[in-house]
This record gives sequence, structure tokens and C-alpha cells, in this order.
Amino acid sequence: MSGRVQCVLCPHMCVLDPGQRGRCTVRLNVEGELVSLVYGRPVAVNVDPVEKKPLFHFLPGSDVFSIATAGCNLRCRFCQNWEISQAAPEDVAPYDLPPEAVVDSALEYGCRAIAYTYTEPMVCIEYVRDTAVLARERGLASILVTAGYVNPGPLMELAEYVDAANVDLKSISDSYYRDVCGGTLAPVLDTLRILKDSGTWVEVTNLVVPTLNDGKEELEELAGWVLDNLGPDTPLHFSRFFPMYRLTDLPPTPIETLAEARETALGMGLHHVYVGNAVTTDGMVTRCPACGAELVVREGYLVTRMDIQDSACSHCSEPVAGIWE
Ligand code: SF4
Ligand SMILES: [Zn+2]
Repeated sequence: MSGRVQCVLCPHMCVLDPGQRGRCTVRLNVEGELVSLVYGRPVAVNVDPVEKKPLFHFLPGSDVFSIATAGCNLRCRFCQNWEISQAAPEDVAPYDLPPEAVVDSALEYGCRAIAYTYTEPMVCIEYVRDTAVLARERGLASILVTAGYVNPGPLMELAEYVDAANVDLKSISDSYYRDVCGGTLAPVLDTLRILKDSGTWVEVTNLVVPTLNDGKEELEELAGWVLDNLGPDTPLHFSRFFPMYRLTDLPPTPIETLAEARETALGMGLHHVYVGNAVTTDGMVTRCPACGAELVVREGYLVTRMDIQDSACSHCSEPVAGIWE
């Protein structure tokens, strides 16, 4: 059929006839041209602490201007933001916020960065890129909170404007990605490597879901992949699952599972492993990798202690990986 186009933004590689949308519902073929339906039209806008992303080693204690457009290219059965991520753009009332307005607002609210978050920023990559370029010109950082299901080419074009990213590594099993998320594993691993190689500060989040991806060996394998491919200084956040969306028949993740995963990952050689969405003894504390002193202590999203000076431990001067100022 004439006017048919293929979107090469993400691994779904949707082939679209005129009038047809991609799987993400936000990219439409208009007479042979691929158009974004969400450019400049976020459906969620908030000022959040950077710790909420979560990013624990990037400008701690700072506020970030957080925006999300409708739509996602994955179908995670546990999605916390399904009301906007799984919605078509016409189903949620948007704000009118072109890139200039996002940057103006972020500065007005005293934010240090703009975060593209809550849903999947990669499916509105043009909006993210234009905003990130402008943000950098005006002294603001850009943060991606993403599932990383994107093709290498478009990602590489964006990466140079991204200062930090929290990437979900939902599992180290391809079948989990296929069965629970409607995607595949390999592109996500590529994204993590590409962002790391591009100089973006990367932290990784793994949502631990009872019975589905909480096996000891699987969690060990995941931590091992992060260690071998991204290095021991890459923060890994094990996050607690709560029943949600299409996974309401499972219990919340037991705290012991998360604490054990953390201990195992630390024992394997990762320096900074955290527990999210749960209160544990040490799960939100950044410790010095050399002397073990508590360097950054957090209560909820609040930083209550910060013993890092010139990117090093204030006690023993060991460098601590991250962007601290
Ligand atoms: S970004 Fe959307 S339209 Fe493009 S390939 Fe992915 S799901 Fe399809
Ligand atoms: Zn130290």
C-alpha cells in the first residue's frame, strides 16, 4: 500500500499504513509521514526530589521538573502508572508545554534538572531531545527514567544530551520480558551499555516480583550482569512490588527477599545496592566503598546526611562515583 511507513524508533519496528498508529499509540502515519501525537503535550507535570526517580548518586537533595506524555511501548502487567502509560493520547487531558515552556517552568521552580519519567520517554523522543537540548543551553540537566526499549541509533542521537538515567532492568530473563512486559531483553541490555559508554550517569532499577523474577539465582545473575557490564560503581536498586494493575493476585515482595538480594549483590562486588519502596535498616544509605562510613543517609526522599566532599568520602577521601555537585 502506498504511504506505508516503518517506525524504527523501538524494537517493535511497527509497519504502519496511513491513518494507523504504532503499538505505543502515540506515533501515527499521516499520509506517509510519521507524526508524534504527544509532542509538547505532557499529561503529568510535577516537581519531585531526584531521589524519587530513583537516582541516589546524582545531585542529591535537588528538585527535578518531571514530565510524562501518554503512551508506552511495553505492556508490563505490574505498571504503576498504567492510567497514563497505557492510555491513548486522546484519553488523557494534556498540558500545553512546548520545550521552551518546560525549561522556563523548571527554572522558575528552582529545579536543577528535567526528568522525562512516569511513562516511557523514548516514544516521544523528539520532544525529549528538543527539551534536553534547550535545557542544557540554559544550565539544566536532563534525566531519563526509562525501560530502555529503544533501538541503538535513535538512542545514540539522544544520549549526548542526557546527563543521568535510571533504567529499569525488569529481569535478566528474556521470557519474563516476553510474558510479563510485552518486549524482549536484549535491547534493554544494549541501552544500558550505550548510555554507560556515552558518559551518562546510569543507575539501574529491578522491580522484584514474587514468584515471577525473585529467584535467588536470577537475582544473582542480574547483579552479575550489572557488575560485569556496567562496573561495580553502578548503583542497583531492588524495588518492592505492590499488587497493581494486572498483577493484583500476588503479595507485596517480602522485605527479606529484597534485603537478601542486596546482601548478595554487595557480596558479589557491587558497591552501591539499595532497596526501594520499603523501609529497611541500611537499604537507602550510601556507604563509602573503602572505609564503610555512612556518607548519604536518606529518610524517604529526604537527604538527612551528606558526608561527601569534592566527590569523595569526607572520612577517608576515597572517591565516590556519581555527580554530587
Ligand atoms: S515507537 Fe511506537 S510506533 Fe515506533 S516502533 Fe515502537 S511501538 Fe512502534
Ligand atoms: Zn571512606
